[in-house]
Amino acid sequence: MAQDQEPFHIIIAGGGLVGLSAAHIFDSLAAELAAVPGARKVKFTVLEAHDTVTPFIGSLLLLYPPSFRIYDQLGLLPAINGLVDDIDKTVTFTAGTGAVRYVDESLAELVQRRHGHQFKVLHRPRLAECLYHGLSDEARANVLLGKRVMNVKTDGGAGVEVICQDGTVIKGDILIGAGGVRSRVRSNMQRLKAASDGREAKDQKPSTNESPYIASYRLLFGNVPVLEGLPIGVNWEGAGDGISTQILTGSKQAWWALYEQLPEPTSKHSKYDEEDKARVIARWGDVYMAPGYKLRDVLEHNSGAIGLINLEEGMVEEWTWDRIVLVGDAVRKVEPHAGLGFNQGLTDIVTLANKLHGLLLEKPDPSTGDLAAVFGEYQAERHETLHTIDRMSRRRARQVGWPNGGYRWFATWVLPYAPLARVGLEYVMGPIMARAPVAAWLRETSLPAHEVEYETYGAADDEKKRARTRKAVAVRAQGSGSYGLTLGTATILLAGLTAVGLRYYRRI
Ligand SMILES: Cc1cc2nc3c(=O)[nH]c(=O)nc-3n(C[C@H](O)[C@H](O)[C@H](O)COP(=O)(O)OP(=O)(O)OC[C@H]3O[C@@H](n4cnc5c(N)ncnc54)[C@H](O)[C@@H]3O)c2cc1C
Repeated sequence: MAQDQEPFHIIIAGGGLVGLSAAHIFDSLAAELAAVPGARKVKFTVLEAHDTVTPFIGSLLLLYPPSFRIYDQLGLLPAINGLVDDIDKTVTFTAGTGAVRYVDESLAELVQRRHGHQFKVLHRPRLAECLYHGLSDEARANVLLGKRVMNVKTDGGAGVEVICQDGTVIKGDILIGAGGVRSRVRSNMQRLKAASDGREAKDQKPSTNESPYIASYRLLFGNVPVLEGLPIGVNWEGAGDGISTQILTGSKQAWWALYEQLPEPTSKHSKYDEEDKARVIARWGDVYMAPGYKLRDVLEHNSGAIGLINLEEGMVEEWTWDRIVLVGDAVRKVEPHAGLGFNQGLTDIVTLANKLHGLLLEKPDPSTGDLAAVFGEYQAERHETLHTIDRMSRRRARQVGWPNGGYRWFATWVLPYAPLARVGLEYVMGPIMARAPVAAWLRETSLPAHEVEYETYGAADDEKKRARTRKAVAVRAQGSGSYGLTLGTATILLAGLTAVGLRYYRRI
């Protein structure tokens, strides 16, 4: 009997935003399956290398509607709504002079009208705290801090064993690698797979210095209080040759960032020190972060630490092997201008959890083959969307930090006159958001009215209410599409502009 069996143990390596969100989702899945007669019980453990889940330096984090839907299901929406700020407009200007080039307004309103929730911004450490403290005491006890995963063993198809730096050994049924860009689980998985294929493992001791991703830009970033003359809800973006700037003002603070093109793209992990930061500041101190504010003016108000990191981009080919599967930045890294990395990591976890939910209901004691099949489906499902996300994020970054004259030309002669941000949100991100899954076993309690029907809705205990919502959605959808562009026109415009943009993009 499934109920007499040991619970199905899910180990999550990494307690970043994706790992902590996974803790909520698998805690909820455990409660769901515990209530199903005959179903296998589930338990989870999160292993986080650091002694805290709060990042050292806080950057901003943009959340998209699919993420709000999931946090609604998890009962976290009221807490998160208390942390987020609106973005009313984005003003793009020339970083060298501070002269305004073009303004994108009412994009958040467009997203809200079409998808129910807006996109909103918050301070990343607040979300980490909210996720950690939002767990029940019992669930939080499964988040083990100071446990750095070093080694992974698979147990001849029966399970997986994780060995931490302090000697702790944890056995489980599956291992989810959520360790970010430098995932140890990923390098261990590659080593185990290579050994099982009979190939010499390229790197018996997983390297921590080489990345599967390539960085073309680095980022200097920090926080300031709300600055005089920079209204709340405005995102200022400075564009220039190989350089771009950003300052976004929230209700309690502003986040600033300076993106600098690297002399050469690199896959080496770079650890920068205070002298490196000082050199970047000396190079770009006179660049504008917003009209009236140069970098050195903003730095006078900086509060807390300043970060300097490489911004990797790319996707790994192998996401899974045996009972191991990767999520979040461990499988792909996107440039942050479009604010999609974490949002997509959350979709990874929900996609995976839905598949495990279905599998465990059907087979309380799944074999390695069953699990590998489900993990393969997860990768295939996510892969297509993520190629689009990757392309979009790359283009978004290069539209402001021009890597060559082609991008400068495009930004000067096309972007100010074409509603590309709106078209991209509606016709590229729109379908991606509409397809994003929610947890199959949970209800959405407060999905606002929306024009675009979602492909999946959460479980409903009130079919009539659900039918009413769907009807209202369908009626609104019939009357939608009135953004001044028909789908056909928008597609032609986007195709034309993308073709122009791509010609230059390929030259990088
Ligand atoms: C400046 C900036 C702004 C961004 N803005 C946005 C945004 O607006 N919206 C958005 O969606 N995304 C944004 N992103 C991307 C987003 O931050 C990442 O996609 C997201 O944090 C990935 O989460 P993760 O949990 O997969 O990885 P990480 O956040 O890297 O977390 C990995 C965790 O695993 C732990 N870990 C690592 N190795 C081990 C080990 N061996 N054992 C145990 N634990 C380990 C780490 O300590 C860490 O806590 C931004 C990124 C940057 C740099």
